[in-house]
Amino acid sequence: MSRVYNFSAGPAVLPEEVLREAAEEMMDYRGSGMSVMEMSHRSKVYDTIIKEAEADLRELMNIPDNYKVLFLQGGASQQFAMIPMNLMKNKKAAYIVTGQWAKKAYQEGQLYGEAVKVASSEDETFSYIPDCSDLDIPEDADYVYICENNTIYGTKYKTLPNTKGHTLVADVSSCFLSEPVDVSKYGIIYGGVQKNIGPAGVVIVIIREDLITEDTLPGTPTMLKYKTHADADSLYNTPPAYGIYICGKVFQWIKKMGGLSVIKQRNEDKAKLLYDFLDQSKMFKGTVRKEDRSLMNVPFVTGDKELDAKFVKEAEAAGFVNLKGHRTVGGMRASIYNAMPKEGVEKLVEFMKKFEEEN
Ligand SMILES: *Cc1c(COP(=O)(O)O)cnc(C)c1O
Repeated sequence: MSRVYNFSAGPAVLPEEVLREAAEEMMDYRGSGMSVMEMSHRSKVYDTIIKEAEADLRELMNIPDNYKVLFLQGGASQQFAMIPMNLMKNKKAAYIVTGQWAKKAYQEGQLYGEAVKVASSEDETFSYIPDCSDLDIPEDADYVYICENNTIYGTKYKTLPNTKGHTLVADVSSCFLSEPVDVSKYGIIYGGVQKNIGPAGVVIVIIREDLITEDTLPGTPTMLKYKTHADADSLYNTPPAYGIYICGKVFQWIKKMGGLSVIKQRNEDKAKLLYDFLDQSKMFKGTVRKEDRSLMNVPFVTGDKELDAKFVKEAEAAGFVNLKGHRTVGGMRASIYNAMPKEGVEKLVEFMKKFEEEN
């Protein structure tokens, strides 16, 4: 067996320990005589799996009792519609556009009501987080929407926007469980799990109970009402059962590591290795404002497209894969999620040093 260092933005690297355990349990999950893939989602065995996953997530994130945890499908992208369908009572919401995912959510919001762009960093190709301390948020906006970590551009909010009392909704797909959060500051925290938590196909939505109502926009499909899934404890229909099982294992892994404070420290150490190197390199440069740098996604360039391509190619041959930047940004991007070992980042930096010396 030979594993590479996988810097993919998503689906992304998972802890080896989790993959090994899943492999061991593949044919016979703990004496059930079957794989979790083959199991009824209404069975006792599966009920324990999903309940434990939820309990572990609640413990890790210290989720208050007045929040529901939903395991849904449709990707983070489906939430771009589900959020306005369920929350736009006044048919108005404020969006802060800090990258492509926020922009897509903003555009989707326009299908359902008045989506107001209250701030944006598009003027400088999303290379920074705008000042959100005193935004002009419409009085009757139902919520303020952010994408907390911008996967493509590599920026992250270091302080949450001042929503002036409005409900905060955050897409945390690419920073989920990367550090402790105060859940009570949000109305909804959600993310696709394929960046930092598990296999593609599961979206976790953490939602304050008062936002779960029957009062959705007319025509909202049953499957797109938060209430449908909240009332059924995420078992209204068949959930992405195997994916949730793997997420549960990742929660256990994080607990064993010591929880989110320890994970945050590890992530800061890893990111520092790479950013410190970029800051002193004559060849490679980070692409975003320093104070807004993401701990998870680190884009960088040489300034020369051919040299970028050469780097990506040689890196891949050396076992550092998926370093090519997003098609809209170019250059390189190293995604260094929770499961990327420190060793992977150290070796990448060594490789970059060597490349710089030789080119
Ligand atoms: C990947 C990503 C998405 C899109 O996720 P899908 O599950 O493919 O819909 C949305 N938001 C952010 C921040 C992402 O990183």
